[in-house]
Amino acid sequence: MCPVWLEGEARTRWGKWGGRMKHAKPPKQPNSVRKLQYLWRIGALPRAVGLHMVTIWHDDWCGIYQGKACNCDPDITLKATLPGA
Ligand SMILES: [Zn+2]
Repeated sequence: MCPVWLEGEARTRWGKWGGRMKHAKPPKQPNSVRKLQYLWRIGALPRAVGLHMVTIWHDDWCGIYQGKACNCDPDITLKATLPGA
């Protein structure tokens, strides 16, 4: 019957997807992005602020200057003040 086949198919696909999720490594994000997300979470930055609206100040030794991911504790400042803020 059609519904039974659909159910089986859906379960198979879900199983494959679940297996892939299980083995997938957690996405590793550069410190700069993680810090920005942290600032969003604690409410230090309005949600409306995007990556393109902030300046990220990296330490001199930061990996970003060697073409790697950011591994310092960057300072994040707003490029412009938000209207109404
Ligand atoms: Zn950095």
